[in-house]
Amino acid sequence: MSESFHDIREAVRKLCAGFPGEYWRNLDRKRSYPTDFVDALTNSGFLSALIPTEYGGSGLGVQEAGAILEEIHTSGCNGGACHAQMYTMGTILRHGNNQQKETYLPKIASGELRLQAFGVTEPTSGTDTSRIRTTATRQADGYIINGQKVWTSRIEYSDLLLLLARTKPRESGKKPHDGISVFLVDIRDLQNQGLEIKPLRAMINHSACEVFFENMLVPTSGLIGKEGEGFRYILDGMNAERILLAHEAIGDARWFIDKAAGYAKDRVVFDRPIGKNQGVQFPIAENYAEMCAAQLMVQKAAQLFDNQESCGKEANIAKYLASEASWRAGDTCMQTFGGFGFAEEYDIERKFRETRLFRTAPISSNLILSYIAEHVLGLPRSF
Ligand SMILES: Cc1cc2nc3c(=O)[nH]c(=O)nc-3n(C[C@H](O)[C@H](O)[C@H](O)COP(=O)(O)OP(=O)(O)OC[C@H]3O[C@@H](n4cnc5c(N)ncnc54)[C@H](O)[C@@H]3O)c2cc1C
Repeated sequence: MSESFHDIREAVRKLCAGFPGEYWRNLDRKRSYPTDFVDALTNSGFLSALIPTEYGGSGLGVQEAGAILEEIHTSGCNGGACHAQMYTMGTILRHGNNQQKETYLPKIASGELRLQAFGVTEPTSGTDTSRIRTTATRQADGYIINGQKVWTSRIEYSDLLLLLARTKPRESGKKPHDGISVFLVDIRDLQNQGLEIKPLRAMINHSACEVFFENMLVPTSGLIGKEGEGFRYILDGMNAERILLAHEAIGDARWFIDKAAGYAKDRVVFDRPIGKNQGVQFPIAENYAEMCAAQLMVQKAAQLFDNQESCGKEANIAKYLASEASWRAGDTCMQTFGGFGFAEEYDIERKFRETRLFRTAPISSNLILSYIAEHVLGLPRSF
């Protein structure tokens, strides 16, 4: 395994050592937010990795941000509580205006403001983002937002929301995604002013919510870039999201593999360590090979992104391979631990549930395969 960005990884590992399995288990039981962990990451500057130094951030790239998230997951922690601050950054940095950057970025970097929520998914549109129904209607003093989002993670713990809404109907544009705009919404004072948030109890502790907008006013200054161009802007962000989450999946895979290999060496059944049996060691070795291969693609995608080169193919493949690798490593780890894999105190069942998310969100494996089939291999569009 590569140890690029060794110093960063070392520092993250040190920080994560203060947040052992017991910390995450307690939160998981109560479905509580890891405030102390997020504060520690903020104070150490890791969460502002992608904010340029002129705005008080660390001015690093997606490669370094990925190393941070990967190490968080390798340490058995979970970056899901705060990773959106990293992957939403590209939209603001590349398409936001100076006023937006000057107003928000220094405060996000210092931790005074949290940008943790990204509202794309809606209950009726599913993965077909072109069919979102949330509307933003232009008025003299801003935009009036009406509609609904679902699975909007961390919004209860965020001050800002990056929101996708239609400013023109789907039928009026040349392409299905024309007429979608992206807004940076300061939601601090909007509860009871057209914004309603309802937490969703889910399989994992991810602070996901349903969000309802009823005549919620967003000032014109909240519009990012040009009206109607929003989908194009968030595509950059989506590539960053796929690459960063792929790093997290690699971290999970590493954690599962380390746990499984360690247990297989120690656990003695029939007077021999279970790891002496090829039926136990081969799956772990296979997972290791898969993880290493996936990691190369993740690194390639991150490099291309940082060089501002086209990386849609690599970001999608990286996310696909890493999420499949972590899922398979999780399954092997469960199997290696036998019945103890099911016991909460080993953390494996929790990590197993958590890593399953990567096969579904932010984009499902099927949709990635259809992207590769259509956009890389030139096969007919299947839907
Ligand atoms: C814990 C959690 C946190 C989340 N956080 C956020 C968040 O912060 N912000 C946000 O906007 N969203 C978030 N999401 C939503 C997530 O991105 C979506 O659930 C995901 O993109 C899948 O969309 P869907 O649930 O609408 O599935 P659907 O689009 O309804 O698809 C259902 C199934 O059908 C398959 N499918 C659909 N169409 C096709 C096709 N044409 N070909 C082949 N297969 C197809 C899919 O692969 C999938 O397996 C979160 C989800 C979860 C579970």
